[in-house]
Amino acid sequence: MRFQSGFLFLCLLVSSGLAAERVIDAEMHHLRGGGDTREWLEMPAEPEGDSLTVSFEADEPNAGTATLWLRQRNVQWRWILALNEKQLGTLREDEQGARLAWPIPPNTLKSGVNTITITHKSGQRPDDIWVGDLRIDSRLPYQVLGEREVAIVVKEAGKPEADLPCRITVSDAQGDLVMTGNGTTKTTAVRPGVVYTLDGRVVVGLPSLGTNELTVTASRGFEYGIDQKKLGPGDWPDTLAFELERQVRFPGRAIDPHIHTVTHSRHGSCRLHERIITMRGEGLHVGASTEHNLNIDWADMAAQLGVKQGREFSTVVGNEYTTRTGHFNLLGVDPEAKPPGYIGNSWAGVIAGCKSSGAAVVILNHARDVQTGYRPFDPKNHDAERGQRLDGGSYDFLHGMEVVNSGATQTDPFELTRDWLAMRKVGWNIGAIGSSDSHDVSRYIVGQARTYMKDAPDADRNERSPAFDLDRFATELASGQTHLSYGLLVELEWRDGKPKVTVHRPDWIEHEKTTLYRNGEAFDPKENDGEIKPGDWLVAVAEGPGVTAPHWPFARPYKPDGPSFKPRAIGISNIVRVRAE
Ligand SMILES: [Zn+2]
Ligand SMILES: [Zn+2]
Repeated sequence: MRFQSGFLFLCLLVSSGLAAERVIDAEMHHLRGGGDTREWLEMPAEPEGDSLTVSFEADEPNAGTATLWLRQRNVQWRWILALNEKQLGTLREDEQGARLAWPIPPNTLKSGVNTITITHKSGQRPDDIWVGDLRIDSRLPYQVLGEREVAIVVKEAGKPEADLPCRITVSDAQGDLVMTGNGTTKTTAVRPGVVYTLDGRVVVGLPSLGTNELTVTASRGFEYGIDQKKLGPGDWPDTLAFELERQVRFPGRAIDPHIHTVTHSRHGSCRLHERIITMRGEGLHVGASTEHNLNIDWADMAAQLGVKQGREFSTVVGNEYTTRTGHFNLLGVDPEAKPPGYIGNSWAGVIAGCKSSGAAVVILNHARDVQTGYRPFDPKNHDAERGQRLDGGSYDFLHGMEVVNSGATQTDPFELTRDWLAMRKVGWNIGAIGSSDSHDVSRYIVGQARTYMKDAPDADRNERSPAFDLDRFATELASGQTHLSYGLLVELEWRDGKPKVTVHRPDWIEHEKTTLYRNGEAFDPKENDGEIKPGDWLVAVAEGPGVTAPHWPFARPYKPDGPSFKPRAIGISNIVRVRAE
């Protein structure tokens, strides 16, 4: 099956020296590659085809490099883009909608009929995508993308200096990212439509894109509001100044205990210096290096970039102990020490490995994902109702388990919450971890899911103690005193004989409801479910719609259980034990 858009757009005339953008095909096309399975219910049941072929006429070959624009959405696996059978590149493997530009090498266009094809790479997983809005501009990509140069300065509201590490997102009226003229530098980490800046100052090259309006958004992760400016096609400002309001004031630290770089983990795309910039740009206070089976210290790179360790930010040396019997984050390992070898093909083997590492904190990662054929919470390994391993193996070497991994979300966003509650019920002292597992600059956002540890404000009324205390984190995590945040942050207190819930969020994330759990079971005090008694333990789970805004979109499951998915923002509170008055 092949979709042929035919000769609907015959009037293309590419002439050198004419800087105009030509529309080749304004439509978007739904393609399904690699099989007949419908990937998502939001996509039409029947695709237009498994590949796209668009033919158009040109007067003459392109003497110099030209630019091809296209719009893509929902691309998860690899698709090949070619012009007259010459491969220009592959679509960007990212579900988020984006307008991207590719260089067309000289003499790729020919006089007469030209053909653009987009085909699913054989051997890749099935993928439903939208692609189209094809345009050719006779100018070089850097001229097209950097048509307008705008100096951006970002400050925290109420503070004098414009020096706030943050993220700049450029999107169009359809909410799709728009590629900029920037590339990664010493102080920026750049991907299509996304520029992270370490110091709140960056010159961004913006295309004018015909008549389209662009939205430039400054953001800084969960704790800050956003600031947006709209640019019409005729707007050519020299400077855009943004102010971000700190909207979540929680006395403590935001920790992402699961982060990678391509430099050491060898997949994804985020380089080590880009990692420091993105962690600061998302407002994390603690970032743990958890490269696969490596103890890597990121502190030198942070120092080289002028990022100090202390109240504002610190790095932790960890290791994602990646075995054939599950993945475990080991935090607080010695960078000079040899990482644990994998011992045996058994749960006892991984326990020995975790213990031999000397880590202060051990976390069970993405327990419902299959990795190298093994899934820790597979029904043949784990009884989810009883919260026990079927082989009788222990969980007492763990301080925490990932309940939300924003880089590997689950089709049922609360399945791991139920798993965790069942384990607390039978007495495993394991905390609920939010982490990002990000290997990327923008496809998966570092620190999107995170874990908060409260800090008592000190005598100087600082919100954070001078240094992050990993041993205290181990204790607070295991005893349920930390908070999981994936768009929402919930505090639970016992006050005047009643539970009191406080939900923190920025104004761009909604909160819909909170469920209280008593001894691991959902509990509604109004429904006469019985009284809360001394000895009971309580936890609050807040939820709201998942974020779809271009500056912080929630990722879809990469290993979905089915074609429907409803992303949810989730906050899991600390545990409160009710004492006799
Ligand atoms: Zn993993
Ligand atoms: Zn990982």
